[in-house]
Parts: sequence; C-alpha cells; structure tokens
Amino acid sequence: LALSIALGAAVTTAGGVGVAVANQSGSHDRTRDVARAVQGAKGKAKYVIFLLGDGMGQSEITIARNYQYGAGGRLPGIDTPPLTGDITTYALQEADPSKPEYVTDSAASGTGWATGHKTSNGRISTTAGTDLILPTVFEQAAKKGWATGNVSTAEITDATPAVLASHVNARGCQGPTDMTACPKYKKSAGGPGSIAEQEVDHLSDVILGGGKGRFDQVIDGGPYAGKTVVDQAEALGYSVVTDAAGLDAVKKGPVLGLFNKGNMSLEWKGLPADKPVTGPQVCQENQRPANEPSLAAMTQKAIDLLLAKNAKHFYLQVEGASIDKQDHAAAPCEQIGETIAFDNAIQVALAFAKTHPGTLIIVTADHSHSSQIVEPGSDIQGLGSILTTKEGAPMEVSYGTAPKGGSQSHTGAQLRVAAQGPQAANVVGLNDQTELYHTLARAIGVE
Ligand SMILES: [Zn+2]
Repeated sequence: LALSIALGAAVTTAGGVGVAVANQSGSHDRTRDVARAVQGAKGKAKYVIFLLGDGMGQSEITIARNYQYGAGGRLPGIDTPPLTGDITTYALQEADPSKPEYVTDSAASGTGWATGHKTSNGRISTTAGTDLILPTVFEQAAKKGWATGNVSTAEITDATPAVLASHVNARGCQGPTDMTACPKYKKSAGGPGSIAEQEVDHLSDVILGGGKGRFDQVIDGGPYAGKTVVDQAEALGYSVVTDAAGLDAVKKGPVLGLFNKGNMSLEWKGLPADKPVTGPQVCQENQRPANEPSLAAMTQKAIDLLLAKNAKHFYLQVEGASIDKQDHAAAPCEQIGETIAFDNAIQVALAFAKTHPGTLIIVTADHSHSSQIVEPGSDIQGLGSILTTKEGAPMEVSYGTAPKGGSQSHTGAQLRVAAQGPQAANVVGLNDQTELYHTLARAIGVE
C-alpha cells in the first residue's frame, strides 16, 4: 500500500514514465470484472483453446513484458484473461515413481495436463516405470466428434505437441528411424510407430509446425512400409503443405503443415548472453523468413479450418516452443521475440472468444527456466546481457545454470495459469498441473 501511495504521489509531480507505472499500481477495483468472469466460467465449453509457452516461467514473462511494453505495461495476450492462479509441475522418478523429480521436462509436464497423471521425464503419455498408455483429453475430444488441432513452432513431433495424440516411453522417438530408445514401439515390431506416425494415424484435423525431417523418414513396417510418413499422411487424406502460401490456399482439413525441416525459424535476433556481459543491446525484430507462417497466423488458420470441420466444437492446442529453446541457448533477444510471438497468438484466441461465447481459453507453461532479471552491475557468475528496453531503460538478464556453449537448464518453480470461459474458475489459487486435465475434461463434457 505504501508503495502505491508513493507512486500515486509521483504522478502529480513527475508525470512521464511515472504515469505508466502508477496506472498499474493497484487503485482499480476489479471485483466486478472477476465476478463477471466467474459467472461466465460455468458449464461445458463449445471450443477449447489451450495455449502453452514452453519454458515460460514468471521470469520469462516479466522479461518480455519489461522489454516490449515497459515495467508498468501489460502483455495484451498473456495478461488479459481475468482468472489466474499457479500450478506446481514436478515429475516422478522413473526408477521409483513414489518419489518426485522436482524439475520436469516438457514430456512429463505435458503428460500431466494432457492425461491427469504425472509421469517421469522423457515419457509421452505413458506411465512411469510401467509403460502403460494414458488416454488424453485431446483423444477424448476427438472421440466425441470434436474437430482437433495441434500447432507448434517446434518440430510438431517434439514433446509438447506429442503428448496429445501419441504414446511412447521416450520423447526422442520422433520419426521411424529415431526408434533406438523405444524398439517395441516400432511398426516392424508390431507397435504403433514413432510420434510422427502416431500423430498422422490419429487423424487430427489440423497439424501445423516444424519437423518435416521426421515425416520424410521411411516407415519400417505395417501397411505403409517403405513409404515416408508424408506418403502415409497423403494416403490418409491429408493435404500436406510446406510454406505460408500453401497453408493460405488450404480450404479444408485434414491438413499437415510442415514449415521447416527442424524447428521453425525465430522471430528476433541479438547478442547471446556471455561473461563478461554483452550489450547494452536493442533486439533486431522481423527475422522470420516470409515463407514460414507466424504462430499467430497458424493459430488463425487452425481456427478457420477447425470451424469448417465442426462449427459446434473444436479443441486446439497452440505451443510457443522456442521460448524454452532460446532460454537453453542463453539468447535473450530470441527468447523475448518468441514470447512476444506467442503473446500475439494468444491475442488471436482472445479475439475469437470475443465473438464466440463458450470458448475456454487456458494460457500456461510447462516448466520454469534459467533466465533472471538481475540488478545492473551484479557480479554474475554465469552469462549475462544488458538490453535497452522500449521504454529506454537497461534490463540485465542472467543465465546461470550452464557455461558458455552449454544448454541452460529448466528450473522447478511453480507457474502461472490464466484462463477465461467455461470452467476457467478452476485455475484460481494454487493447483497441480494435473488439475488442468480435469478442468479440460469437464469443459469438453467427459467428466
Ligand atoms: Zn527445454
């Protein structure tokens, strides 16, 4: 309270930046907004849009907000849904699933909200230790006749998109020739095949992302032996597109869009963090090649195609994947650019919800990450970079969990969830991420 009074007083004397900060200092009574949001948070959903920023902890959100909109600003996507809470995200130990693994990866975390069950790191919707298949809310929606869509800036076979419609003991088993860690899942061994094969077999209506290299691999058994996964997709009726113009031209699903051999290209670039610290720097924006669609464009197209398939019900997951990947790389500009691109995709979902009542939107993340905002001049033992934000102030970002050239590590702090629409009030307070499954299951009417 003392702080908000102090800031409020600063407005009358200072103005300028002080005004932006003071506007957010807490004088606005939100009782009516929250009451209205809770009122609208009843019953089943018509549409579900689940948006996940990979590695997007509170620190990553704050870094992007500070840089792009200022310390007193708001991210127009992430910061908009009125009902918010926190989730815990720990995984289980593979050798002893009665014990926690305090830092999760995307595979175990995704299994948590997709199935309602915790598992060990690296597993895709299968149980720790016992390797049983865990049904997912995405599959349950499809079984009910909902149109289904899966969008990511990563390889679409990467862990977060994989947990929806595939089941395997090791996340690396992404294409038919990547099966060393999961031999019994191979088609030639009578298994369901790699993540790519399972995703296509699932007959999702919209699959958009990177990872074409996985789908160009040759299948080793079953009816499509000797063919690629792209061939399999086409045989199953998919339109396969590989650039933004191709995606624009698609009028109905099922569609498989593979816009990069690996992960999709990044939005921004800048100097990586280093020791001694780099900068001060301003990030270079608009780096993504035009033949690759933005995450926001993929989200909009997915919504259009899903509505064309089923005007009454769809379930869409959208992942901003490279927030995590650029945090691993200690690349602050790239990390912020991906966070802003994810925020743009959230705004597409929010605009849809405005004209389509009954849309449940959940925005969350799968694990925290290494980046931290530190005091300028701190004696950083890891890597650092100073960014000059859009409001003209220095922001020092540090990465302290791996040396230069290494991969910064995930961290174990609880995460933010923001939601609106049917069942959204369930995210309020502190929950475990497996509760998100039950919220989603109630929203689609299977619980
Ligand atoms: Zn990661």
